[in-house]
Amino acid sequence: MLIKQTKEPILAVLQQYWGYKSFLPLQEETISSILENKDSLTVLPTGGGKSLCFQLPALLKEGLTVVISPLISLMKDQVDNLKDMGIASCYLNSSLSFEQQNSEIEQIRKEEVKLLYISPERLQNERTIDLLQSVRLSSFVIDEAHCISHWGHDFRESYRNLWMIKKRFKAPHLKGSKRFIPVDKSIGVHAFTATATKKVQLDILVQLKLPDPDIHIGQVDRPNLTYRVIPRHQILKQLRGIIAKHTNEAGIIYCLRRKDVDSVSAALTKSGIDNVGYHAGMSDEERYRAQESFAREEVNIIVATIAFGMGIDRSNIRFIGHAGRPKSIEHYQQETGRAGRDGLPAFCYMFYGGGDYRLWSFFAEDSSEREVMIKKLRTIYNFCTQPQCRHKVLVNYFGQDYGKHSCDACDYCLNELDMVDDTLLVGQKVLSCVVKVRQENYGFGLGYVVNVLKGKLTEKIESMGHDNLSTFGIMQTESEVFIRHMVEQLVGQGFLFRDKEFLTLSVTGSGKQLLSGAVSPVLAKPLLPAKKKKIARMAGKINDEEWAEIDQELFQILRDKRTELARKKGVQAYIIFSDKSLRDMAAKKPVTKEAFLDIYGVGENKLRSYSNIFIKVVKDYG
Ligand code: ADP
Repeated sequence: MLIKQTKEPILAVLQQYWGYKSFLPLQEETISSILENKDSLTVLPTGGGKSLCFQLPALLKEGLTVVISPLISLMKDQVDNLKDMGIASCYLNSSLSFEQQNSEIEQIRKEEVKLLYISPERLQNERTIDLLQSVRLSSFVIDEAHCISHWGHDFRESYRNLWMIKKRFKAPHLKGSKRFIPVDKSIGVHAFTATATKKVQLDILVQLKLPDPDIHIGQVDRPNLTYRVIPRHQILKQLRGIIAKHTNEAGIIYCLRRKDVDSVSAALTKSGIDNVGYHAGMSDEERYRAQESFAREEVNIIVATIAFGMGIDRSNIRFIGHAGRPKSIEHYQQETGRAGRDGLPAFCYMFYGGGDYRLWSFFAEDSSEREVMIKKLRTIYNFCTQPQCRHKVLVNYFGQDYGKHSCDACDYCLNELDMVDDTLLVGQKVLSCVVKVRQENYGFGLGYVVNVLKGKLTEKIESMGHDNLSTFGIMQTESEVFIRHMVEQLVGQGFLFRDKEFLTLSVTGSGKQLLSGAVSPVLAKPLLPAKKKKIARMAGKINDEEWAEIDQELFQILRDKRTELARKKGVQAYIIFSDKSLRDMAAKKPVTKEAFLDIYGVGENKLRSYSNIFIKVVKDYG
């Protein structure tokens, strides 16, 4: 037994409020640290159940748990969720009127709430400090703790000063508490994040001044996500293709630039695909409206730049499409991480092209962290161009071993990639061509090299006399798309170097090893139409299995009822019930209260609030 306090009352609370029967990995350990007032850092992937780790002990401990949260929308959703489960909680932020704020402060003073959500800026305000020093506190939670670190992906200045918590707040002697916490002991601080490399983890601990914390690092792997990485050809056609596979399901299409968001969004609308756009160039009002309509399930597709970020907690996002390559593996993990938060299968499609690298390195130009950014760009480019298990690469990047031989959830392991047979020979043909065309201080770009290999007699090739080279036309039986794809992969795998300014190619140190036959590249052929069709069929099959026991028609009706209730209450749909709960209902078709309590995610409050309504839907359906 991991939790020293008897486990029964904890499990009873889990069932009573959340309607869950057991813990997810590391939840018990984290709950234990919080109950013991030990500082802690917990890294659990999106969908790993972080909120419950601090919300449940907040109920069991005396005093107020203060949660530092970066965004107003996240605070509202979390508090709506807690209230819907019957847990007294509130937030303090600028979205509240003066009267509402006073009323919340009054409740905090009277110690009537168990959880308070505030921003890091607000916490550092002297009036907030006075307020919190006047009540009994149980612990501090720092959500999205990676914002503390420069090395993370969403650095925020005000997170940097959170070490003040240890200095300004003490854990009180909790009268009547079964556990003794000495007077004056500093308060427990608990940091949570989904994505943190070792460097970021260490930075969080140093910045918060936590000398001896409990550390809980979960598996970064998201087994319910299937990754596919695809060269970009006709992006609109490719995007329409993935959207068609996910009718009636929610998805985010990420674009690199604002103007791409505008054009992709308009083109999809023109094809009859209902969607909203989102980027930082839009007014606050427009952005708010877009986010709200997506969150409230009025629209299923959002086309966005990465400005559409942390505030998304719609739990039933079934697919993410990247119209361009993200700027780092961290970003990719974070952006794809928004899919399948409810634990159900979800799909990630990344469409990449050589131009993405140029775009990002152009942005990196003025950055003080240029070297770090370029290194990260190379790593993700390699991720795209080196066929191998995608889950394994992602997990290894975050410093963990991937135990399994095959993930069965990426294009490589699902055998969707057509591998080139004699990769050494192909690699040598390309590299020797690059060597041959290159002059001392003068090189050629990808298009030129492709033409020479293909044996295409252009004016330039003729004027350079490169049609006389032995490599001219050495790959003439292959298509241009094929040759281009080979060159791109050889760049991504580090055998060729592409100059950032002139885009000329040259052979690297490992390229020389390849030429001597000491190492071989791993090369996949571009996807052929027949193979694409097969993959589309396979994706269909995965869906069929997923829905085997579930009455899909009933599921849609339950979903409509949920949307109606959410709209009436002014909360997000998932706060009423997650898709997982609705699927469970559509499979088990409960018609008694007892049967309803057995549905995934139904606790006592949900039973009271919703059983009559949803049982009626099931009965009416027949
Ligand atoms: P995170 O914040 O780590 O992304 P959430 O707190 O949103 O994850 O939890 C993801 C989903 O898992 C939510 O629907 C949550 O209610 C559910 N969940 C959390 N803990 C459990 C549990 N012990 N058993 C079943 N489902 C759980």
